[in-house]
Amino acid sequence: MQRLQAFKYELMPDGGQQRQMRRFAGSCRFVFNKALALQKTRHAQGEKKLGYAGLCKLLTEWRNSAETPWLKDAPTHPLQQMLKDLERAYANFFAKRADFPRFKKKGQQDRFRYPDPKQIKLDQANFRLFLPKLGWLRLRHSRDVLGTVKNVTLSQSCGKWFVSIQTERELEQPLPHGGAVGIDMGVARFATLSDGTFYAPLNSFKRHEAALRRASQAMSRKTKFSNNWKKAQARVQRIHSRIGNARRDYLHKATTTISQNHAMVCIEDLQVRNMSRSAAGSSEQPGKQVRAKSGLNKTILDQGWAEFRRQLDYKLAWNGGHLIAVPPRNTSRTCPCGHVSADNRPTQARFRCVECGFEENADVVGAINVLRAGHARCACEVSGEVRPPAAGTRRSDSGAAQCRA
Ligand SMILES: [Zn+2]
Repeated sequence: MQRLQAFKYELMPDGGQQRQMRRFAGSCRFVFNKALALQKTRHAQGEKKLGYAGLCKLLTEWRNSAETPWLKDAPTHPLQQMLKDLERAYANFFAKRADFPRFKKKGQQDRFRYPDPKQIKLDQANFRLFLPKLGWLRLRHSRDVLGTVKNVTLSQSCGKWFVSIQTERELEQPLPHGGAVGIDMGVARFATLSDGTFYAPLNSFKRHEAALRRASQAMSRKTKFSNNWKKAQARVQRIHSRIGNARRDYLHKATTTISQNHAMVCIEDLQVRNMSRSAAGSSEQPGKQVRAKSGLNKTILDQGWAEFRRQLDYKLAWNGGHLIAVPPRNTSRTCPCGHVSADNRPTQARFRCVECGFEENADVVGAINVLRAGHARCACEVSGEVRPPAAGTRRSDSGAAQCRA
């Protein structure tokens, strides 16, 4: 089994390297924005969109032109990768997976990628990495890089620089541990497993909401772009990054534990995007219960359900298990005995079947029902050949959809 995995480290660049990286990120942003502006003008004039090869030719012209001589100082490959990213942004837009590509702003997503492993040297013994036009960069070494290096992305967040090293390695097909489990996602409990264990919600955003509000208010009182404004802005960004780090850490720990101890995980196929769609609605169709819903939206997005599912998917594949998505249907009102009734839920947290008297926490019942639906969905596959897990290896279709009969 081929395993693609990224390893991320903080960089410890010297002053010169920091300046260079900021300049390179700026050049990359410039190229992306220039190419996007060009495509937009061509579209307005009724011309066809330029392909990657055509854009690369233009890039050479830009690098050699007298107007932008500083573009020559930046490494070529990362600049070309921006054109590739633009191509992908367009493809995602046409496939309705994403919004129309937007111009990049300074300080947002400052990143660039070295795609050629031949240009990258990794010296693990001395915790350093060689990159064209930057030289040897020191890494804050937290763990070993496994596998062969495929490409490297540098990114900046809150004044710190990070490197993500994408690797590839061949592993033996792992044998899964443990049995099957169903998971019910909720607001009061982040995730409840059908065996009764549950994960309390972290609500990373909510915990920092007040501090964030104070910091943004302080920022709005400063004169824009003044030194004090920049300090206040840095403070806001630090809080945002703390929120993100806490959420990521929590999700990774939960998904690692679940995927290492189960061979099959069933989860409701919730469309987080639809669930959290603007509560206000459109002008023709104003939403109902706008306040309550926008609060729920914040909570749902804060918990990171979509990311939870994505991580479960690829980690299960790494461990030889698989994820099964079942359509959400009446799972909170159905008793394991089969009786469906709204009366089964006397309160939000409690479940009591009016038919057989079965009593349990409502979320656990939900998880049991998700597991049953998952079993039913996969009955066809258990007897037949089991498809190799797809996520985290090279894949053509969604690993989560593998049991869709
Ligand atoms: Zn019952």
